Amino acid sequence: KFKSAKDMAQYIEKEKVELIDCCFVDPLGLWHHCTFAPSQCEEDDLAQGLPFDGSSIRLFRSIMESDMLMVPDPATCWIDPFAEKKTLHVTCSIYDPSPRKPFARDPRSMAVKAVEYLKQTGIADTMMVGPEAEFFLFDHVKYGVSPNKMFFEVDGVEGTWNTGKPSSEKQGGGNLAHRVPPKNWYFPVPPIDTGMDVRGEMLLTMGELGVPIEKHHHEVATCQGELGFTCRPMLECADMMMIYKYVIKNVARKHGQTATFMPKPIFGDNGTGMHVHQSLWKDGKPLFFDENGKYVKLSQTCLHYIGGLLKHAPAVLAFTNPSVNSYKRLVPGFEAPVNLAMSKGNRSAAVRIPMYKPDNPKQKRLEFRCPDPSCCPYLAFAAMLLAGIDGIKNKIEPPPPCDFDIYELSEEEKAKMGLKSTPGSLTETLDALEADHQFLTAGGVFPEDFIQAYIEWKRNEYLSVATLPHPKEYELYFQC
Ligand code: GLU
Ligand code: MG
Ligand code: MG
Repeated sequence: KFKSAKDMAQYIEKEKVELIDCCFVDPLGLWHHCTFAPSQCEEDDLAQGLPFDGSSIRLFRSIMESDMLMVPDPATCWIDPFAEKKTLHVTCSIYDPSPRKPFARDPRSMAVKAVEYLKQTGIADTMMVGPEAEFFLFDHVKYGVSPNKMFFEVDGVEGTWNTGKPSSEKQGGGNLAHRVPPKNWYFPVPPIDTGMDVRGEMLLTMGELGVPIEKHHHEVATCQGELGFTCRPMLECADMMMIYKYVIKNVARKHGQTATFMPKPIFGDNGTGMHVHQSLWKDGKPLFFDENGKYVKLSQTCLHYIGGLLKHAPAVLAFTNPSVNSYKRLVPGFEAPVNLAMSKGNRSAAVRIPMYKPDNPKQKRLEFRCPDPSCCPYLAFAAMLLAGIDGIKNKIEPPPPCDFDIYELSEEEKAKMGLKSTPGSLTETLDALEADHQFLTAGGVFPEDFIQAYIEWKRNEYLSVATLPHPKEYELYFQC
């Protein structure tokens, strides 16, 4: 980690770095990179930024104004453990060259702006974030979609669509004795858990790159895993989330496996969530604890934050749950949230208050359980923060806590309590975003034209799936 472009340039020369890999994120959450020779990366280039064609990046801009700069953040450097040559990774923000300013649609710059806006409101100066991104690790995946052929095959389960239950052991020739049924993998020791070594390598690799991982474990679904990291300030945490995905995918690949963060790859088993723990801090002090708080020692600020988050959740989900597949996860029975409610234990509630250390002010936080890792973490964290700020500014009360079985409530009772369900599809979420996004444009964080372009892009994604005949439709309708 360096403080300045100067430090970075000195290191490159002194340590004989052979290549410099500049990465930046697009609004759909994917890292892109361009690798430069050290001769192109003198102090001034590193400080001013390196050129690339912005018109080829999804949702960035038109072909008319394509020249852009990626500006390295010296605090985000590490030597890439997967590259053969000595390669220095650096995460970049995107700038317009003239006049030189942060690019309004750069997710990383938007996250920075969201935190600046938080400071401007005077509410707090820091958002602490702790994401729990789950993933699946498969031995063998094949899929394809073309006009005359669609198929999906996971871990030797043949078929045209992924309704299979993959094993976590190599298929072929049997030897599948150490298995338990779906939803039962939390978390027996090897040989049932075959991912221990791979996850261990992921944990250690991330540690070397400065991503502090506390633990790794198998998750509830077949072949599912999770590594837990400590809470960080929001921007740093989003940067780390990108490293997390990069390391998990590349360590898996090294072991001949494929890791996926797709929210619901397996029918009938748990999906992949990215619960996000969050709290606000000011001058080094936590703001979400109150010894006399009326509900589990939450401060009024925290309750209003939750009020805002739950009120705007249908729109926020366009950024925290941005794929068509996301909504196949948000269904009853799989520990994914289906109620826009607050609870201290209920895992079907969108907001859960962890009760591990209820009296520790520094541990007081909420866990938003809706997000999944198909999101762009910068946009997802910024959207949640802005919903929370709106709640605090407008003193929005959350619905009463639901520390009982919500399934026992009738629709009428739910309506009376002001309880809504999570949106049923990406299209519902996009409708909500279209109708409700002033809280996002506040402080100039999300540009209006970006929101419109995003909605259009995502509606097309939705249509590309919705207009595709599904094998299940043959079963239901072929005989009609
Ligand atoms: N996999 C579950 C989800 O989809 C979460 C399981 C857990 O509580 O960690 O959110
Ligand atoms: Mg989990
Ligand atoms: Mg959790």
